[in-house]
Amino acid sequence: HHHRAAFEAATRGFVGGKVPLGIKRKGLRIVVTGGAGFVGSHLVDRLIARGDSVIVVDNFFTGRKENVMHHFGNPNFELIRHDVVEPLLLEVDQIYHLACPASPVHYKFNPTNVVGTLNMLGLAKRVGARFLLTSTSEVYGDPLQHPQVETYWGNVNPIGVRSCYDEGKRTAETLTMDYHRGAQVEVRIARIFNTYGPRMCIDDGRVVSNFVAQALRKEPMTVYGDGKQTRSFQYVSDLVEGLMRLMEGEHIGPFNLGNPGEFTMLELAKVVQETIDPNAKIEFRPNTEDDPHKRKPDISRAKELLGWEPKIPLRQGLPLMVSDFRKRIFGDHSDAKP
Ligand code: NAD
Ligand code: UDP
Ligand code: UDP
Repeated sequence: HHHRAAFEAATRGFVGGKVPLGIKRKGLRIVVTGGAGFVGSHLVDRLIARGDSVIVVDNFFTGRKENVMHHFGNPNFELIRHDVVEPLLLEVDQIYHLACPASPVHYKFNPTNVVGTLNMLGLAKRVGARFLLTSTSEVYGDPLQHPQVETYWGNVNPIGVRSCYDEGKRTAETLTMDYHRGAQVEVRIARIFNTYGPRMCIDDGRVVSNFVAQALRKEPMTVYGDGKQTRSFQYVSDLVEGLMRLMEGEHIGPFNLGNPGEFTMLELAKVVQETIDPNAKIEFRPNTEDDPHKRKPDISRAKELLGWEPKIPLRQGLPLMVSDFRKRIFGDHSDAKP
């Protein structure tokens, strides 16, 4: 309490998120939780390039220092090793809340989505910052509506193996709206659909990273189930553009941010073959429980209200990810000193 009072005294009169966003302004202070991760690190690159001061808060659960190391030494960049499940005192204008154990092998039994989101909302409330939640298409569960619109409430198993993630994000959305209605926190909600690109975790079990790593290592690509389930894959720079437009815009959302280009897992395997190795083999494995059969965003709302739509189709984005994976898997010694 002593600390809190001191911080409050130090920040009295601070206008936080109330900086008029349309006007040319300098140096917003922005915290990106999960900023050492895949999506977060690309977002940090854009914010730093725009001239803002960025504080990354990350416990390196799945994130890596290497993703943000190129900013070390920049006075506009700070990195804090911290678990958002613990309270955190900072003075900032905007909070991009991405911290989350984001993959099936990591997300079981983890309170980050609920407790971490609560803490970051508490922070937003205290300093008057604008808060953006990166929710997920998983809130639609195994959807009975196709494509998914934001008004659809979803079809989620509350007690299944994926529930910790799905329901955790649904709870995070609820908390976000409650802080908006109850404490007038300025909030934004993005529902992100499957995203891929450079810096993706190599071994966290997601389908694009699995197939690419497997094809590069000359291992068979593991297709779960019959491979006829669908997903829609978005390139990371398109997502980052959408997140920034959402944060800067006037609409709370939720907004679907995804690429409507829909592929079966067998079609994805074919694109990976075309891109990496036409002889790459496919191996079928039993599917995981509660796997959604199809998923494709309806992005009319983001198009209309954010003026946003993805620009990079899978066949164009995949090679960009492949060259990054090649370097990370095989090492790139081309710039090594003799
Ligand atoms: P990621 O695993 O690369 O990034 C998550 C980051 O959060 C990591 O750096 C991790 O170390 C950090 N983190 C996890 N728990 C933390 C904690 N308790 N305290 C502090 N840091 C913590 O995953 P990503 O793909 O970059 O995902 C970013 C966000 O986007 C997540 O909220 C995720 O749910 C959401 N999302 C991503 C996708 C996708 O396809 N990539 C799809 C839907 C939603
Ligand atoms: N919190 C935080 N940083 C802050 C302000 C709050 O981490 O700058 C945490 C706080 O510890 C609490 C949560 O956010 O666990 C919710 O805070 P809020 O003030 O809304 O609730 P209260 O503390 O009144 O229960
Ligand atoms: N999948 C697959 N092979 C893999 C990994 C995943 O066929 O090596 C399938 C998985 O069963 C699911 C789809 O690919 O149907 C997408 O899985 P991912 O975990 O990437 O994303 P999510 O299920 O969260 O959309």
